[in-house]
Amino acid sequence: MTYLVTDNCIKCKYMDCVEVCPVDCFYEGDNMLVIHPDECIDCGVCEPECPAEAIKPDTEPGLDKWLTVNTEYAEKWPNITIKREPPADAEKFDGEEGKFEKYFSPEPGQGD
Ligand code: SF4
Ligand code: SF4
Repeated sequence: MTYLVTDNCIKCKYMDCVEVCPVDCFYEGDNMLVIHPDECIDCGVCEPECPAEAIKPDTEPGLDKWLTVNTEYAEKWPNITIKREPPADAEKFDGEEGKFEKYFSPEPGQGD
């Protein structure tokens, strides 16, 4: 089992999650974060910290796509452990449907 970052992180990227993870398994893309499924120890502390409710346990149905996205990009993007300011327009995108199709960027973020 692992926890996964899902659609609503895209363009919100509040980063409250990275500070609580005991094993530092968040990785930063241009406009979202992902969790490394092989490093996550399933402690669950990040899930309630996400203001966008974007973090889900992989035991929830329908998250296969997100397991693929988290697994692939955790290998490509830099590790992030320190929270920075969220995007200025983060609230505008919170809750919007279909953000992956509209906005997902495969580019890496800045990392720590
Ligand atoms: S707290 Fe939620 S929205 Fe913010 S970066 Fe983490 S997963 Fe994304
Ligand atoms: S469930 Fe625990 S180990 Fe996994 S990403 Fe969240 S805080 Fe880190």
